Amino acid sequence: MPEFKNLVFDLDGTLYPLSSGLGEDCQCRVYDFFCRKLNISREEAQDISKRLLQKYPYESQGVEKELGISEEEFMEYICRTDVSPLQENKELSTALAKLPQRKFIFTDSTVSHSLDVLNKIGIRADVFEKIYDAKQGGYVYKQGVEAFKKFCEFCKIYPEESLMFEDSCKSLSLAKEAGFKTVQISENGQTCTAADYAFADINQAVRVLDL
Ligand SMILES: [Mg+2]
Repeated sequence: MPEFKNLVFDLDGTLYPLSSGLGEDCQCRVYDFFCRKLNISREEAQDISKRLLQKYPYESQGVEKELGISEEEFMEYICRTDVSPLQENKELSTALAKLPQRKFIFTDSTVSHSLDVLNKIGIRADVFEKIYDAKQGGYVYKQGVEAFKKFCEFCKIYPEESLMFEDSCKSLSLAKEAGFKTVQISENGQTCTAADYAFADINQAVRVLDL
């Protein structure tokens, strides 16, 4: 693998496997949020959620526009998922501490969720120069190439000198369009066309860098 100055990691589904079930907990927290905040039933909360998802690419964008609830409040609540199912990953912790490149997290979730995850999987947060979340990105999310360009400007890195680790095909293709080399983490073994490299999990991916 050629040399890169910067390693940029997505969080969910990349630094830990999606099969751990955290995504399902997040969906429950969306319904909980609407029930509590709007004092409505679970069925009504599910209807609101469905309606917002039909109208907006990201539910949180509709929350502010349609319900007058701040996107930050919504995101902080729904991303505070129970991280207890996650396993400690000593191999990753050792490898990341050893790798000389600058390391970043680029996530559509929140810094607090990222810190919860890192703490549970046993990785020191200070291994990363920056944890860049949706809030810092102005809640633009990884919907377009602009989000990746904005991230690079914010962190003062050049995409051409950077490797992006991601599990989402859409994000991988946007990262590639922005100029990154891409590493796909694919639990099910299916690879995206935008992936320059693909591995079943993050440990295998990082092992290749650590040669
Ligand atoms: Mg992901």
